[in-house]
Amino acid sequence: MKNYIVDQLKKQIENFETQSQTEKVGKVLEVGDGVVRVEGLSDVMSQEMLEFSDGSLGVALNLEEDQVGAIVLGDYKGIKESDEVKSTGKILSVPVSEKMIGRVLNPLGQTIDGKEEIKTDEFYPIEKIAPGVISRKSVHEPVQTGIKAIDAMIPVGRGQRELIIGDRQTGKTAVAIDAIINQKGQDMVCIYVAIGQKESKIARIVAELEKNGAMEYTTVIVAGASDPSSFSFISPYSGCALGEYFMDKGLDVMIVYDDLSKHAWAYRQISLILRRPPGREAYPGDVFYLHSRLLERSAKLNEDFGGGSMTAFPIIETQAGDVSAYIPTNVISITDGQIYLEADLFYKGIRPAINPGLSVSRVGGSAQTKAMKKVAGKLRLDLAQFKELEAFAQFGSDLDEKTRAQIERGRRTVEILKQDQYSPLSMENQVAIIYALINGFLDDIEVNKIIEWEKSFHKFMHSSKREVLENIADEKELTDEIVEKLESAIKDFKETF
Ligand code: ATP
Ligand code: MG
Repeated sequence: MKNYIVDQLKKQIENFETQSQTEKVGKVLEVGDGVVRVEGLSDVMSQEMLEFSDGSLGVALNLEEDQVGAIVLGDYKGIKESDEVKSTGKILSVPVSEKMIGRVLNPLGQTIDGKEEIKTDEFYPIEKIAPGVISRKSVHEPVQTGIKAIDAMIPVGRGQRELIIGDRQTGKTAVAIDAIINQKGQDMVCIYVAIGQKESKIARIVAELEKNGAMEYTTVIVAGASDPSSFSFISPYSGCALGEYFMDKGLDVMIVYDDLSKHAWAYRQISLILRRPPGREAYPGDVFYLHSRLLERSAKLNEDFGGGSMTAFPIIETQAGDVSAYIPTNVISITDGQIYLEADLFYKGIRPAINPGLSVSRVGGSAQTKAMKKVAGKLRLDLAQFKELEAFAQFGSDLDEKTRAQIERGRRTVEILKQDQYSPLSMENQVAIIYALINGFLDDIEVNKIIEWEKSFHKFMHSSKREVLENIADEKELTDEIVEKLESAIKDFKETF
């Protein structure tokens, strides 16, 4: 009996303590540009949710000795000086649900596509410690982006973080959207986080995803250019939280952060208003941590933890191709490789404008299928040799036979690596065309006919040689038997072209 009373008392004291912790009230000192300074909230945590007296929400960001700097989520016009602020004792969390697939959300998890609201009791914190080494497994399954140049030469694995980097208007978004479109039937949940982009651009992207049937497995999270910078700041974390929810369920997730340059700008803006000391390029000193703690959360979990994965494609915009600026170098050092898009190539009509010499994938190679590995090595070599000899190409007639042949092969390789937007190609089709290329079946086709040849070839394979494609898709390897069938298929096609 005595024990029971003691227990009860203890419980009450515990409850009393938690209550007194969560009911802290402070006062607004200053408000402007979506940023608020608050005094009297001495026990508040970083990233803790705050509630203002007009009902709007904020997040504590900057903890100083006598005051707290916070951002307001959404409209801040109702907040005035000396208003009350309550701390909630909770880290900012967003609702998560499977119903969010196919929807367009704001960074707080509210739907903004005009369809019905999503009701869920599940919440995930937007900031979380990344999975540790014990729960991880090395990357070993491929992500098929459907883009020949990437799948062959810069292969990405599930759980990898591959940066897409390039100047403005070089096709960065196009690469990411094509990769999402290609996930149809590949057991992948996709999340596209649009950070600080124009609403009209985002609407076009969503329409494209819908048209290609990709919204069936995709969630779009939008912090638009006209939304407050607090939205831009939290949007990648919010997308990552939703990704973690799916990953914890054992699913494979692909997430695109488009783009982290704008994310860094939003953070710089907030930090400057909070009067934090500016560092290099006026970014606050912890801007590296801003992106490392986000990208670290992508992982391939091992079976004990459900076996899920989260593959990240962060995007960074460079100025005049300068990859050694502050934010690009930071993110390059955090990710497992980069796809480097070049304005020069783009204007020459080489699209996607991928520079294979400056692009790498540090872990994806181990995830590539055997069939692709077999043909990709020669492809890379042909291309590298061509790049070296390209300068000599203009002296065409004076070259020895071997050099001339290498240059001709290189020209055709460049043509084959061109690819239209919204036309991803399956692994088996990619292997077939690259096989034909590296084994000289295209050497006698005129360079300006190559694209047409490839298109008809894929059509022919689909209509008349479906079995060969299916063999490659099933076996994922180029056995002697498949090679024989493939070669005879290519020869058959050449007779008809
Ligand atoms: P921004 O810096 O504005 O975000 P971006 O680098 O994301 O630009 P995109 O918007 O993806 O570039 O593409 C720029 C333009 O190039 C678009 O009009 C797009 O349709 C076109 N484009 C991109 N990739 C290809 C391609 N493979 N083939 C043909 N056109 C393409
Ligand atoms: Mg873009």
